[in-house]
Amino acid sequence: MEFIDLKSQYQAARATIDARIHAVLEHGQYIMGPEVAELEARLAAYTGARHCVTVASGTEALLIALMALGIGPGDEVITTPFTFIAPTEAIALLGATPVFVDVDPATCNLDPALVEARITPRTRAILPVSLYGLPADMDEIGAIAARHGLAIVEDGAQSFGAGYRGRRSGNLSTIGCTSFFPSKPLGCYGDGGALFTSDDDLARAAREIRVHGQSRRYVHTRIGVGGRMDTLQCAVVLAKLDLFDWELAQRRRAAATYDALLAGRVRLLARPGDRDGVFAQYTVLVDERDAVQRALQAAGIPTAVHYPVPIHMQPAYVHLGAGDSCPVARALAGQVLSLPLSPYLTDEDIGTVCAALVGAVGEAGASAQRSGHAPARATAA
Ligand SMILES: *Cc1c(COP(=O)(O)O)cnc(C)c1O
Repeated sequence: MEFIDLKSQYQAARATIDARIHAVLEHGQYIMGPEVAELEARLAAYTGARHCVTVASGTEALLIALMALGIGPGDEVITTPFTFIAPTEAIALLGATPVFVDVDPATCNLDPALVEARITPRTRAILPVSLYGLPADMDEIGAIAARHGLAIVEDGAQSFGAGYRGRRSGNLSTIGCTSFFPSKPLGCYGDGGALFTSDDDLARAAREIRVHGQSRRYVHTRIGVGGRMDTLQCAVVLAKLDLFDWELAQRRRAAATYDALLAGRVRLLARPGDRDGVFAQYTVLVDERDAVQRALQAAGIPTAVHYPVPIHMQPAYVHLGAGDSCPVARALAGQVLSLPLSPYLTDEDIGTVCAALVGAVGEAGASAQRSGHAPARATAA
């Protein structure tokens, strides 16, 4: 069993992927070839945003988005500590200060109820992450941002394709960012990413920043980066797009099967009815997580932990002095466990994973009790 089955996906889309790649090899425009604009038009239409700008990675999308917003030294950006390092890194690279706000234990996403108290005169933007493919509380966060004149950047690296109150991830904020890292719901065969906006000026700024701040060849009107997405990677995403809606339906089928088999036996995350996640990860909460993970590994079932250490406790960011201001994130980091999930995972495999998981949770709980170790739960306290 694979944690994310990219080989089956290649077999399913092989003819189109091979044809698309060979078309690029034949025309030879490896940088900014016709597939780049074609993909940008397709993805803008898919999200509903007016503009899509493809970039070298999801990390680069976040960096370019913040640069386009003019964020720099002295600015503060509110973000979540319970995610991949990239959003915090982009803020810090620009000399701005990441301000961590704790997450909602039901979804693991930024808790909007805690945001307003952390806004200062220096706050410029809020950067929520749509973790595990479930959109964050974008309207609540948007209302706070509007009251204080702040931009919102959605990190949708895990949530491309997700629905939220009739709209789509990427088109829920001032700028939406996504990633085409191979294991994301819509992945390429290397690094790639995109940002989305319906603001013409921000889109123009992002396009210039992507190519060294060039407004015309060798005219550099602002500081930029080398941040283009390769034509070949755009071709791969175009090929996979044909299959994408079917794959999303399969991801949701797999998640619903997990939900049905695990409900009442293992703690699941919330499934808010006003949004439709894409299950970049299928993540459950278990006590004695490391023991459970080892037991599953011994049973041949691959799992992963997203993420074992919250960002405000990472060595590179402890100097920000967040202290223990995010106890929910800290507790979740010890309990989250992501199970295998891909569109190609069979219901039979899901049954195998669930049986092993339920057994391992029972066994780990019993052995913790024998050793007198009472597990701590993630609650808002
Ligand atoms: C994967 C990921 C990124 C970074 O994307 P890359 O394309 O790997 O640079 C950023 N944020 C989150 C939440 C991610 O999961």
